[in-house]
Amino acid sequence: MARKKEAKAQGPSRDHLQTYQRMNFLYQASALMAATTAQTQQEPRSKWNDNRTRSLNGLGRYYNSTMRKMARRLVIRLDPHVKRSICKRCDTMLLPGKTSAVRIQHQPETTTVTTCLICNTHKRLIARPDYELFNDKAEIRPDMETEAVEKADA
Ligand SMILES: [Zn+2]
Repeated sequence: MARKKEAKAQGPSRDHLQTYQRMNFLYQASALMAATTAQTQQEPRSKWNDNRTRSLNGLGRYYNSTMRKMARRLVIRLDPHVKRSICKRCDTMLLPGKTSAVRIQHQPETTTVTTCLICNTHKRLIARPDYELFNDKAEIRPDMETEAVEKADA
């Protein structure tokens, strides 16, 4: 019983270390694929679509989908920042200007509306200046507390 409490106090379990590493790799690979376009040698499919560059977004979506599937199966929470950067409908990495459009809406409350350019799904996040995500709070993350103290000393 005591051993279990100690493990919980240290943060994420060591049992899932490889899973976290793999999820991290998949997330970074997905971000790279969303930002990359590849030149193709194929003829354009129609005369209307005349560009020979092709986005690797599909591969990035597959990586994100795999990452979310792993988290769901092992009941691991994704970091909210990671979760907010992925489209919940099509798993596209939401890069502003590339795969998503970001708008500020002021009514009824100031919100950031991120629209996925692939599937047109909206993601609305309330933008309060004093709002802090639960896992960003200093009392939750001891490493951030020490960083804050070091900054105050400098
Ligand atoms: Zn989408």
